[in-house]
Amino acid sequence: MAFTFLPPCGIHLVNRKRVEEELQKARDVADAANRAKSFFLANMSHEIRTPMNAIMGFTDLVLRSELTAEQRRYLEIVQARSKDLLVLINDILDLSKIEAERLELNPVQFSIAQTLSDIVGMFSLDTAKKGLRLSMDISREFPDVIYGDQQRLRQVLVNLVGNAVKFTEQGAIIIKVERDLSYSGSDDCLPLHVRVQDNGIGIPVDRQKVIFESFIRDNHLIPKYGGMGLGLAIAKRLVEMMGGNIWCESEVAKGSTFHFTVRFLCQRVGDKLPDNAIQAPAPVQRRQLRVLIVEDDAGSQLLAQLLLEELGHRITAATTGKEALRELSANDFDLVLMDVHIPDMDGLEATRQIRNPASLVRNHAIPIIAMTASALKIDEEACIQAGMNNYISKPMLPHELVTAIDKVIT
Ligand code: ADP
Repeated sequence: MAFTFLPPCGIHLVNRKRVEEELQKARDVADAANRAKSFFLANMSHEIRTPMNAIMGFTDLVLRSELTAEQRRYLEIVQARSKDLLVLINDILDLSKIEAERLELNPVQFSIAQTLSDIVGMFSLDTAKKGLRLSMDISREFPDVIYGDQQRLRQVLVNLVGNAVKFTEQGAIIIKVERDLSYSGSDDCLPLHVRVQDNGIGIPVDRQKVIFESFIRDNHLIPKYGGMGLGLAIAKRLVEMMGGNIWCESEVAKGSTFHFTVRFLCQRVGDKLPDNAIQAPAPVQRRQLRVLIVEDDAGSQLLAQLLLEELGHRITAATTGKEALRELSANDFDLVLMDVHIPDMDGLEATRQIRNPASLVRNHAIPIIAMTASALKIDEEACIQAGMNNYISKPMLPHELVTAIDKVIT
């Protein structure tokens, strides 16, 4: 007959409690380390965006001038590589934001058909070069306008279509959008099932499970195709944030189909718009503006000045918050472009002082646009809370600058 020793109940409970406490401590340490890594990545991306602003901006400006064919070719390579680098920085930033749970969805009203046809247009040059056919097939039952995070849907599609184009040498790529039939929830919800199908190199079965993890890529494919292995990891997290799933079916040498589901809301034209839905801005009459640029980074300052002068505006530059307040007390301006990280008093504090009726500034209501190298929503919100009217992210693109100004100058 076998005897089993059972510890008295009390001892059992004490041990269990201790183990749970230890486990909780280990979990807290791991979470803190993960958060520290995410903040480090977010800060690094921020530091890299400032020099990128000058590299991309000046390359763009020089490319608009007269150049020899050879100079143009070299600069076009600089331009293309800077864009690749920016995609990489944005991917790292996105992943760190997702991991730090700081990425928020930004739902707007949009047309799914238009979004898809923009993407087809965006890849038309690459597909034409390779002789590939790229087409879209969208179910007719969808309303003209739906409500969801268009930018993030676009990001997932751009990644999947980009991969399909990259890994396919001949044949066709089809983007298909249908209602997700597996969904059985509320009628307001519009569940989408999207497929991106190619007949490219395919993916071995054992790799199909891991490709959605970050930094997973096929070493033997890198010399030919490049890539950091971040795209699908980001796509997976974004799709999950939008209430769906992502998976793939693939056969080596035959091709791959990437599937994902997302849940948006039905919103027909004429329906009441949700409060934060973006509407087309009214056309703007442009006039010459007196602009104060507050920026301590010499490259970024000169770039903003050249872009604004090209638009016909008159520029004054300041490098510190105090200098900016002196200028705004002594002279009349129509607009301030304010960097957030400036010496002596940051852009947020300078803005609060401009808005303060007790300060000597002549026009307390002057429109202020933040120029920020941070792509975190929380930093953008801080700009608005401090009293700024709008913000623009670095690297600053000329058309984004025009749109940002149009929005605040009425
Ligand atoms: P990357 O940016 O490096 O392409 P992804 O996360 O987008 O990273 O993709 C990870 C890996 O998955 C790729 O390196 C490739 O090996 C594989 N892969 C993704 N899409 C396809 C596809 N359409 N056809 C074949 N392989 C693919």
